[in-house]
Amino acid sequence: MKVTLKNLTKIFPNKKTKSEVIAVNNFDYVIEDGELIGLLGPSGCGKSTTLNLLSGLLEPTSGSIFFGDDDVTMLPAESRGVGLVFQNYALYPHLTVLQNITFPLENRKGKDKLSKEQMVEMATEVARLVQIDGLLDRKPSELSGGQQQRVAIARALVKKPRILLLDEPLSNLDARLRLQTREELRRIQRSTGITTVFVTHDQEEAMSISDKIVVMKDGVVHQTGAPQEVYDDPINYFVATFLGTPPINCFDGCVKDGKISIGDEAIMDCAGVSDREVIVAIRPEGFSLDGDEKQVFTCELSRVEVMGRDMSVVAMHEKCKSPLIRAIIDSDNLKNLNGDKVVFGLKPHKLFIFEKESGERIRF
Ligand code: ADP
Ligand code: MG
Repeated sequence: MKVTLKNLTKIFPNKKTKSEVIAVNNFDYVIEDGELIGLLGPSGCGKSTTLNLLSGLLEPTSGSIFFGDDDVTMLPAESRGVGLVFQNYALYPHLTVLQNITFPLENRKGKDKLSKEQMVEMATEVARLVQIDGLLDRKPSELSGGQQQRVAIARALVKKPRILLLDEPLSNLDARLRLQTREELRRIQRSTGITTVFVTHDQEEAMSISDKIVVMKDGVVHQTGAPQEVYDDPINYFVATFLGTPPINCFDGCVKDGKISIGDEAIMDCAGVSDREVIVAIRPEGFSLDGDEKQVFTCELSRVEVMGRDMSVVAMHEKCKSPLIRAIIDSDNLKNLNGDKVVFGLKPHKLFIFEKESGERIRF
C-alpha cells in the first residue's frame, strides 16, 4: 500500500506555558508500496507523533494522509487497517501466546466473523512466519524479551494490515537480540511485502534495515533517501553528525583563497567558495595513511586500536570539536605510524564543509 503524507502538521498546545509545540511540521512524503521506511531522529523530534498520525491515534492539526488513493485523515484507527508494535510489547499476561495473537480477530462481527478454527489457522501461520510456532501454549512470562516482541509482531500481522507501524520495537532488547531481531524484522517485512514505517533513534539500526530513511529534528524532516545516499551526501551539519558510527569528525576551520584550512594548515582545495568560517567534517574512513596523498592533515597521535581487518587511529587536534578524532584505516598501513604526530591523507568525497551559523552544506 502506497502511503502519502501531505503537509502533515501536529501542534500540541502547552496549557501551562501557553506556548505550543510543533511536534510534526509540514511533513510531505510518499512511501512507495512495499517499502520499509526508517523514521529516524533524536528523542522528541516527532517520530512517535508521526506514527500516531498514521495509525489514527492522533488527529493532525492540518494536512492529510492517503493510503493508496483513500484519504484516511479522518478515519478512526480501527478502520485504517494498520498493525502497530510498540517498544513495550504490551501482551496480555494472563493469555497464552496463541490467545494473544488471535485477540485482534476475536471481536469481528457479521460477515467478517471468524470461526475458532479459522483464527487458530491464521495465528499459526503468522506464528510460523515470526518463528514462534513452538511456543503457542506458553504465557508471556515464560518467554524471553525477543520472543515476546515476536508475539507482538505476530499480533500486529494477523489482521493482515495495510501498513505496519513499529515504534522503537527493539529498544527493550539487549544488544545481541536487537541485532538478530532487526534482521528478522527485515526478513518478515520482505516476505510479506507490507509497507512498513520503522521508528528509531538509533541511526545504525535504521541504516541497516531501511529502504529509505527519513531524518527528522524538531518536527522537521531534514533529509530523505536511501541510507547510503544520505550518509554519502548529507545536506547539513545535523544530518552529517547524526549518521555514522564512529561519528564524523568535526573541526572549526575556514575557507581562504579557495582552500579549506584547519588551524594553519591548508588541507584541501575548494575553488569557487568565498572566504568564510566553516565547520569541516571528515568521516572516519575519510583518512588514509598510504603515504602518497596530495592532501594531508597533521594531527597529534594518541593511540592505535587494532580491530582485525581495520585499525582505529585515535588522534587529537586543537580545532577538533570533540576531544578525540577517530580514523578507520586498513591495518596494512600500520607501518606508516610512528612518533607523536600523524599525517593523514584525506579522501575528498568523505570531507564536507558546512556554514558555521546555519549548518548548511557548502558544495565545492
Ligand atoms: P519522539 O517520538 O521523536 O521522541 P514525540 O513525537 O513523542 O517524539 O514528541 C515530539 C514533541 O511533541 C516533543 O516535544 C513532545 O514533548 C511533544 N508531545 C508529544 N506528545 C504530546 C502531547 N500529547 N502533548 C503535548 N506535547 C506532546
Ligand atoms: Mg517516541
